[in-house]
Amino acid sequence: MTIDMDVPRPKDWVMAIAPYVPGRSTTDDGRKVAKLSSNENPLGTSESARAGFAAHAADLERYPDAGAGALREAIASHYGLDAARVMYGTGSDEILHLVAGAYAGPGDEVVFVRYGFAVYEIATRRVGAKPVIAPDLDYATDVDAVLACVTDRTRIVFIANPNNPTGTYSSKAEIARLHAALPKTVLLVLDQAYAEYLEDADEDGGLELAKTRSNVLITRTFSKIHGLAAERIGWGYGPAAAIDAMHRIRAPFNVTAAGQSAAIAALQAATFIANSRAHNDRWRAWFHDEIGKLGNAGLRAIPSKANFLLVLFEGQLSAETTYKALMDHGYIVRWLPGQKLGHGLRITIGTEDDMLGLVAALREIVGDAGGMTA
Ligand SMILES: *Cc1c(COP(=O)(O)O)cnc(C)c1O
Repeated sequence: MTIDMDVPRPKDWVMAIAPYVPGRSTTDDGRKVAKLSSNENPLGTSESARAGFAAHAADLERYPDAGAGALREAIASHYGLDAARVMYGTGSDEILHLVAGAYAGPGDEVVFVRYGFAVYEIATRRVGAKPVIAPDLDYATDVDAVLACVTDRTRIVFIANPNNPTGTYSSKAEIARLHAALPKTVLLVLDQAYAEYLEDADEDGGLELAKTRSNVLITRTFSKIHGLAAERIGWGYGPAAAIDAMHRIRAPFNVTAAGQSAAIAALQAATFIANSRAHNDRWRAWFHDEIGKLGNAGLRAIPSKANFLLVLFEGQLSAETTYKALMDHGYIVRWLPGQKLGHGLRITIGTEDDMLGLVAALREIVGDAGGMTA
């Protein structure tokens, strides 16, 4: 590409960003099909959250509460937190960007894992900082490898737990070990977008660290188990100094009025949340078993604690071929060649019908490719 010197030039570090590729909702020929590509809740949204959203249809001319006071209070009382230290964002994605903007810049390094969440690299490059990629341990987070990446220039370590797109999970002991070995000047950001899918016993201790340590921030979202992805509401919790820094650079009215109201109501929908978790547990386990039966054809599912499975294609049948064939069958899943996962498909746990149909399609595709379907 020749560079025209007579036009405004974006920063080099911005042009080095590979744009985020969202999950698709239609096929190449425009058909609407089962969307298992964005980890949305197949049970939808709770009635109460829907009502909270609808309550704002009559006052659209008003700006929302810029301080999101009621939302912060609701989150604080639900989780036993200090409302002043609850951050809110246009999805937790915004909070990831705010953290990078507040703590990293040119000359700084930000560490995350090889098969990590795509937004970490975008947030890092956007502020001119350097991404440092830690190798994985069979797709999971390797705490020692992460620690080996830390230098004097490290400002932030991003860890998603459970991780996306792998579904892998680091135990409370591993997270504590990571935190204990990090310099106090490095901010550990624990992205807990799928925390609500964990069993209580698997709680990773992140919230407790965020309550008590000066260098831990957690992020959560209403997009996943709460089924409010359309409203873009995320939150975070951490030391007062980090919250203060992020407020300085956030957009003035970053969370919508209807979204705040829907999120507050969503926190109360205990039955919906429990049903969503139970549905996910049941169908994720079933799906994992079914992939195991296709092992002879080279398929392998990475053990997941989230609402999706990463299925690897390690035999003759490729992930790309399967991705296209699944689309023909009416299922859109996530193929992630841009994230060095050209040999994998990330598949969201859908409705019962979705899962039965998807597995039947997979067996047919494997059979057509000459693989075992026994
Ligand atoms: C989905 C997801 C998010 C962000 O979701 P928002 O809709 O922006 O709140 C953050 N981190 C991970 C790991 C995710 O999978």
